Order: sequence, then C-alpha cells, then structure tokens
Amino acid sequence: MEHIVIIGNGISGVTAARHIRKNSDKKITIISAETDYFFSRTALMYVYMGHMKFEHTQPYEPWFWKKNRINLKKRFVSKVTSNSNEIEFSNGEKLSYDKLIIATGSKPNKFGWPGQDLDGVMGMYHKQDLEKLEKYAHNNTVCKRAVIVGGGLIGIELAEMLHSRHIPVTFLVREDSFWNGVLPKGESAMINREIISSGIDLRLGVNLKEIKEDKNGKVKSIVILETGEEITCDVVGLTAGVSPNIDFLRASGIEIGRGVKVNRFLETNLKDIYAIGDCAEQHEAIDQRRPIEAVWYTGRMMGETVAQTICKNKIEYKPGHWFNSAKFIDIEYQTYGWVWAQTKENEARFYWEHADGNKCIHINYDKTTREFIGINNFGIRMRHEFFDRILNEKQSVDYVLEHLADANFDPEFYKLYEPEIIAKFNNENNTNIQLKKKSWKRIFSKA
Ligand SMILES: Cc1cc2nc3c(=O)[nH]c(=O)nc-3n(C[C@H](O)[C@H](O)[C@H](O)COP(=O)(O)OP(=O)(O)OC[C@H]3O[C@@H](n4cnc5c(N)ncnc54)[C@H](O)[C@@H]3O)c2cc1C
Repeated sequence: MEHIVIIGNGISGVTAARHIRKNSDKKITIISAETDYFFSRTALMYVYMGHMKFEHTQPYEPWFWKKNRINLKKRFVSKVTSNSNEIEFSNGEKLSYDKLIIATGSKPNKFGWPGQDLDGVMGMYHKQDLEKLEKYAHNNTVCKRAVIVGGGLIGIELAEMLHSRHIPVTFLVREDSFWNGVLPKGESAMINREIISSGIDLRLGVNLKEIKEDKNGKVKSIVILETGEEITCDVVGLTAGVSPNIDFLRASGIEIGRGVKVNRFLETNLKDIYAIGDCAEQHEAIDQRRPIEAVWYTGRMMGETVAQTICKNKIEYKPGHWFNSAKFIDIEYQTYGWVWAQTKENEARFYWEHADGNKCIHINYDKTTREFIGINNFGIRMRHEFFDRILNEKQSVDYVLEHLADANFDPEFYKLYEPEIIAKFNNENNTNIQLKKKSWKRIFSKA
C-alpha cells in the first residue's frame, strides 16, 4: 500500500491527510515535533488570555486519528534522503515514504541581535512559545515590563495578550506608522491610535540594538538603536515577521528559495515530494499574490489541492481572490481584493472614516474603467461572498456603493452611516449614486 508521509501537523498537513483519507485507502503518517495533536495556532492567544483551555484549540478528539487510520508520530525530522525515499529523525530512526508532503510552516525571524537567545526572549508562534510566556510573563509580578520587537499581526496580538494580564508593554516598531508596508495611511494611523489608547507604549521608527542579560543568563533590558535608550524588562517578544521553517532540508536536493519551491501543482523539483502551507514558495507568484503566503486559509486550500493530486485527480492550486481578516485589539479588520499601502498609477481611492476614529472603509478602483479592485473594512464587518461575487463579475465601484446594503452584516450601522458614505462619495466624484435596498433574494440564493 502506498505510504504518504506528511511532515507537519498544522492546518495544511492535517487537511492534506484528511482529504487523502476521504479519497483513498493509502497509508498516512503525520509527523510533528511540536504537539501530539493538531491545534488551531490562531487561537493560541486566547489560551493565554484565559478564554479557553489548550485542549479546546484541538478541533479533533484523539480518537479521530485512529478511527481514520492516520498515524501520528511525535518526532523532529532532521533529514530527507530522496534517493532512498527516506526521512531521518533526530534520534537516528528512519522512515520510508512513497510520497512526501512538506508542511512545516514558519518560524519567527531573528536577525542576529545580541542576546536574542537569552532566557525570557521568545517568539509567538509555537506552543512552546506559549509555555515560555506562561513561565516568564505569568503575571506582572514576575514580569514588570515586556518589550515587543516588530509590528505586524502577531506583534499586536502579543501586546494584547500581555496587556490582558496587566503587564506593561513597550512596542518597538521599525516603521514610522504601524504596519504601513501593508496598510494605507488612514488605516495605519487608526491602529497607532488604538494601540496607544489601550495603554501600550508604542515607539515608532525605532530598531532593537541589543538585548542585555542579567547574571543568570536572563534578559534584563533592551537598548534602542536610534536613541541608545535602555529599557528594563523581563520578557522580550520577537515578532518581526516569520519565515519558512525549512533549515533541515538544506542538503536534501530539494530546491529551496526563501521557502520550498513549488509549481502550481505544489510539486517540488523532486518526484513524489510536495510542499504546502506557510513553507511553500511559488516559482511564479499567482496574480498579485506573494509567492509565500503565511495565512491559515491558503494552507487549508493547499492541503485540499495536494490531496486531490496525490489521489490521481491532478489539480492546480487556485486560491481565488485575496482576502484576509484579523483583529487589532478591539478593531476588526477585513480586506477583500487589493488595497495596497500606496495607490498605484491606474487606481483611485475612496476613504470614509467614522467621526469616532475607529471605523472606516477604503475602496480601491480603476480610475479609467471604474472597476472595483478591493476594499478595507475596519470596525465594520462585510460579507465575503458579496465581494467574491463582485470581483468575479468585475463590477464597478458605483455598483458596490449602490449595493452596500447587500454587503453589510449590520443593518443598524448602515441605516445610520450609509447615507453619509454615499454622500461623501458623490460629493468627491461628482456622481449621483443612489442606495439600493437590500436584495434578500440574492443573499439567500448565494448562502
Ligand atoms: C499567533 C498567531 C496568530 C495567527 N493568526 C492568524 C489569523 O488570524 N489568520 C490567519 O490567516 N493566519 C494566522 N496566523 C498564521 C497561521 O497560523 C499560519 O499561516 C498557519 O498555521 C500555517 O499552517 P501550516 O500548516 O503551514 O504550518 P504550521 O501551523 O506552522 O505547522 C507546521 C508544523 O510542522 C512542525 N515542524 C516543522 N519542522 C519540523 C520538522 N523538521 N520535524 C517535525 N515537525 C516539524 C512545526 O513544529 C509545526 O507543528 C497566525 C499565526 C500565529 C503564530
């Protein structure tokens, strides 16, 4: 019987295993060095914040794996020998495969800062990071101050986590406004305000120079590169991005760039070896997407796709229109299509912000054809299926505004603010767009 070995028990590896089982009788083994069972990485923060227990982040009960004949092995893979179709574990044990799926995810970036491996310094990625956080930042007696280095989605989550235990946080962000390589100016400024108003000490435009140690090999302070300021702290969180977790593959003959290089079928340069999820890098980016996408839903899609290919229904990986969502402390964020930080040559923008300064929409469209390109929503939730349809049908910005009632989840919000949004757009664009009533029929037929 063909043996499929999957390295990594995250969303991508586990989805691949589940779908291979749905479609075949193949022998399946999943290996991970991190945990016995698959868990939701995106929910780790809620464990620290006391909203759930770690066991509750595990979508499948332990019996699920046995029932579905998916073997689990807790080991670290140190080597892949493709000539003999074997992998080797750090204890020297070997396992042979017929087909190998690499789904090893990411690891937090470290840029060679002095002191980056001291006790009390951690990323926020693996379950072991959470355990370290419990130890070194259990409360504000053991941790009088934490410093977070790197402003992105994980950095802000870590700030919120520490804040929930009343631990003072200093947040070092290299950019002069939060996440402004991704967010346009208005949205980025909104998040700066949200961070500061939550009581977090946000330092913009600064870099970490070094982390200093006390006499026990534990962090005692950090120094800021630009100012030389030394900040006393008990914990340092390194959240300056992530990169593919693939160091163990360097001598394997598998083509590596930043990640494991794959084609549209998620095949590597070596026969019967595939890569999916955060660790996979497309040779050619798909549309305007990045060649590596470290997001949950694309990991799941890649897992589904590779399972089809392995079960003799070869299909291309097609992630569809870009979307993403996150939470910046109390402000929910969703993006559908593309709203780049900087406006491109062919684009025009419409930005509306609520007077309270913590809700906005930002629409991007082609200034010549008026085709809708994308939307950012902050503090307002809109329907994914609506924007997916709009992007498929290549609708205009005018159509989107006319049909905002179909996009929104919250009728009260729109009763109050839709007229204001439309009036602003008409005023800026010399148009006469009229709001259409909510089209219930379409929403229900799409659901
Ligand atoms: C705190 C946090 C919050 C996030 N929030 C969001 C969010 O809100 N939305 C979103 O879209 N994405 C979010 N992400 C990103 C998302 O979690 C990842 O994109 C996703 O988990 C990647 O899944 P994966 O299966 O590719 O890899 P992973 O989940 O990283 O799983 C890979 C597994 O392989 C194991 N492994 C690696 N190398 C080896 C080896 N040599 N031997 C054995 N085992 C190995 C790893 O230990 C790990 O268990 C978040 C990430 C973090 C850290």
